[in-house]
Amino acid sequence: MKGITSIKTRITIWYTALMFLIVVAVTFAVGLLSYQMSIDVIEKEVVLRVTQVSEKISKHQFDVMQSVDDGEYKNVSIYKPNGEYIAGQYIYDITNLKFVPGVVRHENVEGKEYIIYDIMNPAPPGSGKGFWIRSAESVNSSNLLSKSAIAVMLFSIPLILLITALGGYYITRRAFLPINNIVKTANNICMQNDIKQRIAIEPEAHKDELYELSVTLNRMLNKIETLILQEKQFTSDASHELRTPISVILAQSEYLAEIAENEKEKELALNIVDKSKQISKLVSRLLMLARMDSNRQTIHKEKVDLSVIADVAIESMQDFADKRGIILSKEVPEGLMIEADEALLLSAITNLVGNGIKYGKDGGFVKITAEQSEDSVEISVLDNGIGISRDDLDKIWGRFWRADDVRNDENASYGLGLAMVKSIAKLHNGNVTVVSEPECGSEFDLTLPK
Ligand code: ADP
Repeated sequence: MKGITSIKTRITIWYTALMFLIVVAVTFAVGLLSYQMSIDVIEKEVVLRVTQVSEKISKHQFDVMQSVDDGEYKNVSIYKPNGEYIAGQYIYDITNLKFVPGVVRHENVEGKEYIIYDIMNPAPPGSGKGFWIRSAESVNSSNLLSKSAIAVMLFSIPLILLITALGGYYITRRAFLPINNIVKTANNICMQNDIKQRIAIEPEAHKDELYELSVTLNRMLNKIETLILQEKQFTSDASHELRTPISVILAQSEYLAEIAENEKEKELALNIVDKSKQISKLVSRLLMLARMDSNRQTIHKEKVDLSVIADVAIESMQDFADKRGIILSKEVPEGLMIEADEALLLSAITNLVGNGIKYGKDGGFVKITAEQSEDSVEISVLDNGIGISRDDLDKIWGRFWRADDVRNDENASYGLGLAMVKSIAKLHNGNVTVVSEPECGSEFDLTLPK
């Protein structure tokens, strides 16, 4: 049973095997019992026949001799005291056996078993000598109950086992249904990232341990959902509240930089401007993610020219790329139109290009390409930068996740960019994937329906 993983199958095999043993044991016991009963019946029968004939002979000697001869008394014969045959049926082949009066005995003659009973009948009135009266019966299949009982049982074993296996499997399958539902719900929650799903509980389900487990897990999911919602609400509220003070700090530090009286003051003020811009960017990303999580992010789809979007993304990142000597280029068919939210799509592509530069190598390249199929468009952003290790490929989409070697750098990485790109793809019913080779580069593919 080691290789069988399903509990249902293991239980079914276990009790079907148990049932088989029970049926075989019962068949054996029934066979033994009915054999003993058959022997008892035969023994009583031979005694009865001999007794009946003996009683009758005492009264009507010659009539009875005739009846015995005619076979009225089954398997009964009469012999002279010296063993010479007088009347009756020639019972099997046991005429030559010596007579033992008044004892029911079993004799084996040429491999066959016989039950024999003899008596020496006293001489009837007017006659000087008595007679041997013998009755015998062979112990064979036709007069044994046990053989037929065993045959019936043996024929019914396959049927009993089939009914047991099918019935048992059906019952265990039904009993395990709640576990299937639990596994299905857990998988759906993981695959679809949807904490709103609950374990289906049938209204007429028995209130057993598995029912309790399903109800408890659903209660736990309710609690987790509430906590997640509270956390999202907190992020959304906090980011919203932070926006105004950050705008004020940004505006006033810019003003301070303008009116600075010396270089030192100006440098300090510009530093505040720079950091305020980073915080502002972080806060607006947090707010956007919080809105997307709670389905409050509005999306305004319109026909947009992908080639134009690529140009704008490149233009906005040009200075950054120049600083590292990275060449930005695009290979997008002119006039390739797509139904999308322009601002969100631009933000996603700009992010991917920005990452290509951030994690690129000095003097390298970042290229935007686009290809269309019948019902979708695949936008790819390629770079020949540091690449992503195989272990990190799944993690990069998580919020605030950054590879260890880029954590301390100065370029304002918060680990929110790819989470946002993924959410934007999802909002458009699309998807984003990555192929990467450490030290060779990465390719991010954003697939959106046309
Ligand atoms: P960040 O603000 O840190 O760039 P992202 O969510 O955009 O946040 O990216 C998460 C992490 O994924 C990055 O910190 C980096 O380790 C890795 N990453 C993203 N894009 C690339 C790329 N083009 N090449 C190599 N690593 C990348």
